Amino acid sequence: MADLPGLPDPEMGEPFLLTPGPLTTSLTVKQAMLRDWGSWDVDFRAMTSALRGRLLTLLGAGADAFECVPIQGSGTFAVEAMLGSLIPRDGKVLVLANGAYGLRSAETLRYLNRDHIVLDKGDYLPPRGTEVAELLAGDPDITHVVAIHCETSSGILNPISEISDAVYAAGRKLLIDSMSAFGAIDVSPDTIRFEALVSSANKCIEGVPGFGFVLVRRTELEACKGNSHSLSLDVHAQWATMEKTGQWRFTPPTHVVAAFLEALRTHHDEGGVAGRGARYEANRDALIAGMRKLGFETLLEDRWLSPIIVTFFCPEDPNFAFDRFYDLMKNEGFIIYPGKLTVVDSFRVGCIGQVDVDVMHRVVSAAARALITMNVSSAAPPAAALQERARLAA
Ligand SMILES: *Cc1c(COP(=O)(O)O)cnc(C)c1O
Repeated sequence: MADLPGLPDPEMGEPFLLTPGPLTTSLTVKQAMLRDWGSWDVDFRAMTSALRGRLLTLLGAGADAFECVPIQGSGTFAVEAMLGSLIPRDGKVLVLANGAYGLRSAETLRYLNRDHIVLDKGDYLPPRGTEVAELLAGDPDITHVVAIHCETSSGILNPISEISDAVYAAGRKLLIDSMSAFGAIDVSPDTIRFEALVSSANKCIEGVPGFGFVLVRRTELEACKGNSHSLSLDVHAQWATMEKTGQWRFTPPTHVVAAFLEALRTHHDEGGVAGRGARYEANRDALIAGMRKLGFETLLEDRWLSPIIVTFFCPEDPNFAFDRFYDLMKNEGFIIYPGKLTVVDSFRVGCIGQVDVDVMHRVVSAAARALITMNVSSAAPPAAALQERARLAA
């Protein structure tokens, strides 16, 4: 297929996206978008049905109590749909935040006019089960807890199972933003109890952007009719229509769905959640080992590092400038990601998408060359950054 006009080929200069979605997709995923589908046609309805069924299978043991409801738009649209539909208007929410996505959920609740409090752990630290238990014991009005599975702004893998235990020990309900974890990290409802989670097409399943999906316990879904503030983000209405007609309520991203089915096929061939997660872990380990050899250090201590994305401190050397580093990396074919931290300078490198250990070795070599070009003699972070990390972790 290499002679098809307009198809980008990484060997021909398309950069690798080391960003946590959109990410580098396979050629077959891109090729799956080369035909048009009628949204009402029986063929596309079969595709929608297959997509919903396969996502439930992916959810794992306990999924038979769940439904899959796709929602058009980026991941945030699906988060907003989940929060607006599943939290009653008189509910109260505890949001567990340790980065930009946790804060975004809190901001969404503010827009939705849902009563909420926020446990904000800053950039470095996970919300712990004991803290959740304490807050819930102190506030009997809280009905729901919202947790971020992998907080993509730092790459921290939050202790979701410990959080779930605390939530249900207190008789409350858990909703999970598993956007950047689902498909690579197991969240089977038989292992971790929750009412709903959201993810999207362009993260660990490695499709292209265009829709998200809510995996929701059927009893919760049936009970949530009328909660939503929004016509287009009403999870119950979307579900009811899909069940009845097999169609999306409004124009579906047909090409994105076709690409996603191909991405699911590849995911399955790779060994499902375990296989995908293992490749990402190997990517992360190769990346971190190589970068540490250059003197770089990670924001997070090893036990909180996710296999999704890694945050590195910017070097202290005054010759280091992130914008220059970014351009030099891009010239070598790697798009990296600026940091999203509130306090220290940092940058991020994603481990997800169609990249492997060999690509990660090339990323490290490119970083080494960039340091030489910039005349940076050591990539070591400011001592203050490491002290702060150690202090907060103590
Ligand atoms: C990607 C992501 C989202 C959604 O972001 P969009 O830009 O709307 O796709 C939400 N939460 C987390 C944790 C994410 O990684």
